[in-house]
Amino acid sequence: MRTLEAKDCAINTATLGFQAPINLVIDAVARHGFAGIAPWRREMEGQSLKVVAKQIRDSGLQVTGYCRSTYIPANTRAEFVANIENNKLALNDAAELGAQSFVMVVGTLRDLSSARAQVREGVAMMLEHARDLNVKLALEPLHPVYAADRSCITLAEEALDMCDAIEGPVADPQLGIFVDAYHLWWSATLKRDIERAGKAKRIFGFHISDWLNPTVDILNDRGMMGDGVIDLKSIRQIVEDVGYEGLVETEIFSSHNWWKKPMDETLLVIIERIKTSV
Ligand code: ZN
Repeated sequence: MRTLEAKDCAINTATLGFQAPINLVIDAVARHGFAGIAPWRREMEGQSLKVVAKQIRDSGLQVTGYCRSTYIPANTRAEFVANIENNKLALNDAAELGAQSFVMVVGTLRDLSSARAQVREGVAMMLEHARDLNVKLALEPLHPVYAADRSCITLAEEALDMCDAIEGPVADPQLGIFVDAYHLWWSATLKRDIERAGKAKRIFGFHISDWLNPTVDILNDRGMMGDGVIDLKSIRQIVEDVGYEGLVETEIFSSHNWWKKPMDETLLVIIERIKTSV
């Protein structure tokens, strides 16, 4: 396996802790030689999308993903419909930014079967709009620890089943998944699931970070690659073996550690760790 360099990688801006305005984040990511960036909607508040999009283009960065969807399931039909409309507006912004994918963290309800049914219906309602805009819809299955508050989709298999159910087998899928090592590393069926996704051309992105042991905060204590227990080299091998040719994207939620550091320091450590630990 070749050694990763910054030019093979993207930075999800959440990694840098939202401590600087987006123009400075874009500058830093480009200056360190990364090939892509995945910004968040919160960073676009008060910004001209045209200006941000131009800066990203002029920096030569790809936009791997735009984060992230408004949660889909709701307790009333009106709220559900509003959530879908909100996501369609975000898709417009994703297209304006030139994002390859719109990252879907789908949400959940206490009634998981209702939540899953609503997600399936809602994603289907967004699909044509996404196709018109040429932005892929990327479902991100989350670790089951988030089933209560963030995602009723926790297995790669479940996400792929949903893709098949909504879109059927197609040569050039509009609907697929993000493989996030943090969410999927523990699964006994990981290899099988990634192979299925690769075969169907449904891997739209690959997120890396590490699972710290012990973890003090299940949401915001993700580790730098190499500091935890995930065998990232093996997972990358599987993802690449099934034909994924996109960028490897670092996404570290770390209010306890990395978000307190200057952006340049974090980016330099990432460049070192993608060589040694991914
Ligand atoms: Zn992710």
